[in-house]
Amino acid sequence: MTPRTPGAGLPEHPDFLWRTPEPKRSYEVVVVGGGGHGLATAHYLAREHGITDVAVLEKGWLAGGNMARNTTIIRSNYLWDESAGIYEHALKLWEGLEEELDYPILFSQRGVLNLAHSLQDVREGVRRVEANRLSGVDAQWLDPGQVKEVCPIVNTSPDVRYPVLGATYQPRAGIAKHDHVAWGLARSADAAGIDLVQNCEVTGIDVSDGRVTGVRTNLGPIAAGKVALCAAGHSSVLARMAGFDLPLQSHPLQALVSELLEPVHPTVVMSNAVHVYVSQAHKGELVMGAGIDAHNSYTQRGAFHVIERQMAAALELFPVFARAHLLRTWGGIVDVSPDASPIVGLTPVGGLYLNCGWGTGGFKATPGVGQVYAHTIAHDTPHALAVPFSLERFTTGALVDEHGAAAVAH
Ligand SMILES: Cc1cc2nc3c(=O)[nH]c(=O)nc-3n(C[C@H](O)[C@H](O)[C@H](O)COP(=O)(O)OP(=O)(O)OC[C@H]3O[C@@H](n4cnc5c(N)ncnc54)[C@H](O)[C@@H]3O)c2cc1C
Repeated sequence: MTPRTPGAGLPEHPDFLWRTPEPKRSYEVVVVGGGGHGLATAHYLAREHGITDVAVLEKGWLAGGNMARNTTIIRSNYLWDESAGIYEHALKLWEGLEEELDYPILFSQRGVLNLAHSLQDVREGVRRVEANRLSGVDAQWLDPGQVKEVCPIVNTSPDVRYPVLGATYQPRAGIAKHDHVAWGLARSADAAGIDLVQNCEVTGIDVSDGRVTGVRTNLGPIAAGKVALCAAGHSSVLARMAGFDLPLQSHPLQALVSELLEPVHPTVVMSNAVHVYVSQAHKGELVMGAGIDAHNSYTQRGAFHVIERQMAAALELFPVFARAHLLRTWGGIVDVSPDASPIVGLTPVGGLYLNCGWGTGGFKATPGVGQVYAHTIAHDTPHALAVPFSLERFTTGALVDEHGAAAVAH
């Protein structure tokens, strides 16, 4: 475990992040929320539908929400066909995104291990591997010896509290540099003429005869033909402004990084039972995520005991981390749906669209949902991959229940 000096060579922040346009008084499409999903939606509205009379309204600074706070795990090995459909679609887009954006996003397909620590974990993991293969998603089941080969620093001794009994492995999974992803998408939208408006909070949604007509903001009213919500963590608040409720709960979700270290961790390891997931960022920090804080909140911070348990779990799995120092911790706000699957599509209000409920796992979907959502907005009809994720499923009962199915949900 050797400390590392920060390296040079990464691109500077693009200029446009430091300037913000005065919004016009009317747009064809207003996107609420300038995180990864809002920026990806703007990028694909311009790129695939020629729709550029668009404003992305962000109440803080661009990508300062969950997009800046997530642990960047990208994978598509979910259980159900519907989930595999949208996440695998996203993973394929990730594989070409650096070229598409002409921007270095440092997408690194270093593989993801989901460890199994009990007979139930093993059964769930083997079942998921089989389901993934049937859906065309790359997946393998590894025994503890093979886990050790992929990630030599995992403690596979049978004597620990939660011994490693095996793992699912998706070799094409990995990580990307989230701020670069946001800047790449924002740069593309900006170049297409889309207004990226920072410090602009949507405080009301105007609806007339069942159709959206615009939004109210701290910078004044803005008329809009269509309004697309991308406000992770606050989706229920915005839906309420338009007069309907969402089946979502907002929770803090925390993560932390160590000091910069020389490369020691070659892959991504997730463990549901001990509830920690770990990778090593390009710069060298060990990146560790926790489970959600149990209480509901809109604050971007959680309780210390969650971090404490997470560190205990990490040390058990990776004794070598005992010598690492904590650099910083932070929290984001995620909105979680009853079946732990997203909600993407139309709403009871004409011209108002919904993209929310990604919970702890929406970073990996960023290009996929951006493309699917842009298509939904442009055609006023759900994209085929979004159909299973409609709001109606909570009244029809056609749930996509990934809750108990997808190991750790990130
Ligand atoms: C600690 C942590 C770890 C995570 N790890 C992973 C992971 O490893 N892999 C993974 O796939 N996912 C992960 N996630 C989840 C992922 O980050 C989110 O699902 C995803 O980022 C949500 O989409 P977004 O990027 O658009 O959200 P955000 O970046 O949060 O964007 C929403 C934006 O809406 C803005 N907004 C809200 N209300 C208003 C308003 N009224 N007016 C204007 N703007 C508004 C917010 O300021 C915010 O910038 C993690 C999340 C956290 C917090």
